[in-house]
Formats: sequence, C-alpha cells, structure tokens
Amino acid sequence: MKIASTIEEVRKYIIEWKKEGFSVGLVPTMGYLHEGHESLIKKSASDNDKTVVSVFLNPIQFGKNEDLDTYPSDIDRDLNKCKNCGADLIFTPQVSEMYFNDFCTYVNVDNLTKGLCGAKRPGHFKGVCTIVSKLFNIVTPDKAYFGQKDAQQLAVIKRMVRDLNFNIKIIGCPIVREEDGLAKSSRNSYLSSEERKASLILYKSLMKAKKLFEKNEFDSNKIKQNIIEVINTEPLAKIDYVEIVDNTSLKPVNEIKNSTLIALAVYIGKTRLIDNIILGGKKNELAHA
Ligand code: AMP
Repeated sequence: MKIASTIEEVRKYIIEWKKEGFSVGLVPTMGYLHEGHESLIKKSASDNDKTVVSVFLNPIQFGKNEDLDTYPSDIDRDLNKCKNCGADLIFTPQVSEMYFNDFCTYVNVDNLTKGLCGAKRPGHFKGVCTIVSKLFNIVTPDKAYFGQKDAQQLAVIKRMVRDLNFNIKIIGCPIVREEDGLAKSSRNSYLSSEERKASLILYKSLMKAKKLFEKNEFDSNKIKQNIIEVINTEPLAKIDYVEIVDNTSLKPVNEIKNSTLIALAVYIGKTRLIDNIILGGKKNELAHA
C-alpha cells in the first residue's frame, strides 16, 4: 500500500495505473476509521483494480462552533485498517496542500442543501462538495463510494455529479451499525458510557417508524410525531431535527411511499448524532451490514 501526501504523487500513481488499464475506486474519509469506512473500502477493493482512500479533515465543511479542533484522529490505526481492507493508495494531505491561502472557488449544490443538516450547518455542504470535487479532479476515479449513513451528503453528491457531468459512478453503501443498532460514527468516541446508552434512542425511534410503516401507517406527520415521542423519552437527548423527505429530491413528503428518507439529528449531551432509514424503497437500510 502506498501513502501520498501531495497531489503530484497521487497523480503520478494514477497515470501509471491508467496506462495499465486499471479501474480506480475512491473512498473519501475524514479519518478515525471504523467498520463503516471499512465497508466502503472493501466494496471499492472488490469492484476496482485499485482503491484510493483519502484521509483529510476538511476544515471548510466545519462551522465556527463545531468540532474541527476536537475531531478524533489516529493515522497509524487508519493506515492499518486501510491496508487490511485492500486499499492501494492513501492520500493524507495537509490543509496547505489542498487550499491555497487565497483559495476562493467553491462548489455549491442548491435546493437539496436547504433542509435537514444543510439548514442546521450553514456552509457545510458547500465545503463537502468543494473538497469532493477537488478529490474527484485529483484522483479521477471511475467510481466513488459514500455511506448511506450521511444520506443527505449522498443525495447531494449524486446531484452534483449529474449536474456538473463528472464521469464518475457514485456508489451508496448501507449503514454499518453496532450490535445494539447505533450507527457507527467517528463521533461516537465523544460519548460517555451513560451517553452511549442514551444514544440508542435514535435507532429505537427509527425502528418504531419502521414498525408503524409495516402496519400500513403512511402518514408522515403521524410517523414523525411517534419518532419525536420516542426520542423525548430519553432525558439526555435533544432533537435537532426529524424530517421525512423524498430520498432523491430531499423535498418533504406528506405520505411515505416510494423511497422515502426519514432522517434525524439528535444531540446526546454535546454530541450531535445523525441517523436515517429509507422506507418504501426496494429495501430498507436498517439491516446490519
Ligand atoms: P466521514 O469520515 O465521517 O466523512 O465518512 C466517510 C464516509 O464513510 C462517508 O461516505 C460516510 O457516509 C461513510 N460512513 C460513515 N459512517 C458510516 C457507517 N456507519 N456506515 C456506512 N458508511 C459510513
């Protein structure tokens, strides 16, 4: 496995690989890897001849009062995990490699970023789309892998790729969960043991929604009310949002039918956790992947 910290090095490897006719998969991450990330890397390694994993804590997608400075990191552990999952190249640039001091060009996806996390984290998706576009231009992958865990991000990236004609196939991968149902996240490391127990309320509330849906309850408002009631039984939980939207347009829907996304963000103490489920599509995403 190769490690590169400059754009020039990455381009050198990619040119060599493309000459050989190898297909390339890209897995963008912010590091502190867990089984969620690993599932993306393994999928890419099985789909492509070469897999590039980027490990870059992207400052421009964090708001002023967010956790950029405390975000967990352990690059040696990450490198080990990447190697075990079959990655071929890890790109770990410094911030100065990715952003000139006078950097002033951004990619913004409109509409889809107005609600959900976009409403709560102004500028977040502009930062995400900009870094992902840069990584696409640097790595020029055939396919790029993103987790359904960040459902809005996946929808936004798909729309960006369509609208800007990136010649890259976006592959969405199922949410990987802990045994008890909590969606794996680098941010779970912030939770105290008491908060860790409380964090289960996100999954529980989604399970309640799924059960109601399976009993033919399709009314978004009723399902939303039920989710809110479940979450409010947990004293450590504070709802940031609960939304029920079409999974492609991210527009609110009154009725749950085709591929409807139920997305939530909940503070457990100071830690903001997100989770989601898709109902009414071909398959729901709550399975333990
Ligand atoms: P991050 O390092 O948090 O930016 O995540 C990098 C990629 O891993 C994103 O595409 C995430 O959606 C994906 N990811 C994070 N957590 C999970 C999870 N529990 N299951 C599946 N994919 C995940």
